[in-house]
Amino acid sequence: MDIIQTRFREQLALKNIEITERQLAQFEIYFHELISWNEKMNLTGITDREEVYVKHFYDSLSVSFFVSMRDVTQMADIGSGAGFPSIPLKIMFPHIKVTIVDSLNKRIQFLNHLTAALGLNEVNCVHGRAEDIARLPEHRDQYDLVTARAVAKLAGLNELCLPFTKVNGTFVAMKGSDYQQELDDSSYSLNELRAKYIYTRSLNLPDAEHSARNLLFLRKFSPTPKAYPRKAGTPLKLPLIK
Ligand code: SAM
Repeated sequence: MDIIQTRFREQLALKNIEITERQLAQFEIYFHELISWNEKMNLTGITDREEVYVKHFYDSLSVSFFVSMRDVTQMADIGSGAGFPSIPLKIMFPHIKVTIVDSLNKRIQFLNHLTAALGLNEVNCVHGRAEDIARLPEHRDQYDLVTARAVAKLAGLNELCLPFTKVNGTFVAMKGSDYQQELDDSSYSLNELRAKYIYTRSLNLPDAEHSARNLLFLRKFSPTPKAYPRKAGTPLKLPLIK
């Protein structure tokens, strides 16, 4: 184990998360696959190994600092890109059945390759627009936990993500420091999509800048009305803002 892995283990231990040798090895495979495929396709701008561990892996796992992952059976990650936050969460909490939705097929191909390389079971990588996939009964109103990192502003994102969330399930929108305006702008969309803002949980990454991160917790209280999501493209082009 080198210094980067030792630090990663210590940083997680501070959050009461114990990482095994096998999980450390899986993160190392993830790093190498990410960098190797990134040469062929655009997956990430972050390629320095230590930064990948902090800004992708630790950041993804921050969801588990505030959610009781033992109580999560099914999660959906919308616009997962190269697998963030769902693949780090699956490595650490392998009992969770994960569905990933991304509209770029090349990223889905990477994720199918990656999950096989990591030996992960029950990760379903779905190619398509969230607006279309959320209309399928097997995905609609189904997930205890839905996540999205770096996909869109909250008012539009709500329409992509909340249709996947179960009644009484949680949608966690992962944001940086600048989230207040988009939260303020999201009240109409929350109302339309039958969800409520619960709270924000904040943390700093263990990087040199102590980068601020904010996780916005939203809870769905009724099934998504039939009108939503609107046609693919509309939620982000014309977000539900009044
Ligand atoms: N969540 C990852 C992360 O934090 O690194 C990826 C973020 S990337 C900036 C946004 C991703 O969302 C892209 O992979 C893109 O293909 C996907 N995406 C954008 N709109 C989408 C939609 N309507 N349905 C599904 N995926 C979408």
